[in-house]
Amino acid sequence: MHAAIAGAGLMGRLMAWRLLRAGWRVSLFERDPEGTQSAAHGAEGSAAAYTAAGMLAPWAEVEAAEALVHRLGLRSLALWPVLAAELGADLDLHDCGTVVVAHAGDRADYRRFAGTLAAKLPGPQHWRALDAAALGVLEPELAGRFQEGLHLPGEAWLNPLEVMAALGAALRAGGAVWHQGAAVDAVGPGYLVSGGTRHGCDWAFDCRGLGARADLPRLRGVRGEVIWLHAPAVKLRHVVRLMHPRYRLYLVPRRDHGFVIGATQIESDDTGPITVRSSLELLSAVYSLHDGFAEARVIETRANCRPAFDDNLPRVFTAPGLVRINGLFRHGFLLAPALAEAVAAWLVEPATSPCPELFAPESPVMELQS
Ligand SMILES: Cc1cc2nc3c(=O)[nH]c(=O)nc-3n(C[C@H](O)[C@H](O)[C@H](O)COP(=O)(O)OP(=O)(O)OC[C@H]3O[C@@H](n4cnc5c(N)ncnc54)[C@H](O)[C@@H]3O)c2cc1C
Repeated sequence: MHAAIAGAGLMGRLMAWRLLRAGWRVSLFERDPEGTQSAAHGAEGSAAAYTAAGMLAPWAEVEAAEALVHRLGLRSLALWPVLAAELGADLDLHDCGTVVVAHAGDRADYRRFAGTLAAKLPGPQHWRALDAAALGVLEPELAGRFQEGLHLPGEAWLNPLEVMAALGAALRAGGAVWHQGAAVDAVGPGYLVSGGTRHGCDWAFDCRGLGARADLPRLRGVRGEVIWLHAPAVKLRHVVRLMHPRYRLYLVPRRDHGFVIGATQIESDDTGPITVRSSLELLSAVYSLHDGFAEARVIETRANCRPAFDDNLPRVFTAPGLVRINGLFRHGFLLAPALAEAVAAWLVEPATSPCPELFAPESPVMELQS
């Protein structure tokens, strides 16, 4: 079987990897030219995946997401170590969980967060309430700074840049054919069109993220901004979520005292550079968390848009010879391995798909017409 995949972002690469491992011939068509050097998006390209923080947070995210996100997220948590082994890369994958804290002024938000979590995921296995002493033992860098916190022990994180690089290398080594600088203008059953040429295949996969909007009219962009820091004075070992009145603010550790602070969430298609307000809010928040950030260096800022449907849930639209996977919103790394697995199972036998509610048989173009 031959798959032609439009979009070599996160979903396109993971789908390609799944199919390649299952013995398919795979061709990838990516709009970005080879070695894209864009000031706005950094050296790697325009995929939202390059801006992501890489949290795998099916517990913390469920506060504002459906149970489907939690369920697919749990599956992806199990799949990432398998993928890392298949790719022969460690992906900077860590699994010691998330710590949630709040300043005194944001305790009401904290109580609401904890209450929602307890209501949606009852049971002591999901999270642990920490008093000041227990918080200091778990995350010594936060000792004495907060009166209480939550630990979500099952959560993990990885480095999206390492994931994208490892997938790219493994796909090339595995024989996938890359068409770089090849914008796809149309994707249909058994074909896609790029540069005026129609490329035939057995199955076409539309994984263009926001680039698929012409075919998925209900797709929208949700802007997110992040700041990369180098903070030698900070030794935080967990992802830390700090309650904030406007954003779900987090800090994700990277190798060698690197940290990603994120992320704003703004209803906008704007992928332009980070604003002064967002920079001030993110940097003030991180400094309020730990004064070791005072001398941190700002390495880079990034902004991009998350592809999302109205309900912020992912969808798979299918027709014979055509699969469109989109709407991964702020959960691409959390969902994509499970989505690729579900689609691969659906291709073999639709009735055995582990997640039938994901699939919508009608074409999105029909959705537009109705
Ligand atoms: C600030 C921010 C923080 C985030 N943090 C997290 C996080 O911590 N955890 C998490 O799970 N998720 C996170 N995400 C979400 C995650 O990045 C997205 O859900 C994911 O990247 C979506 O994957 P995708 O493959 O659908 O789209 P993308 O990654 O955007 O890839 C789409 C690809 O298609 C290509 N393309 C577009 N149009 C065309 C065309 N016409 N022809 C050919 N190619 C085309 C693009 O160039 C791109 O390479 C974050 C996102 C942002 C913006």
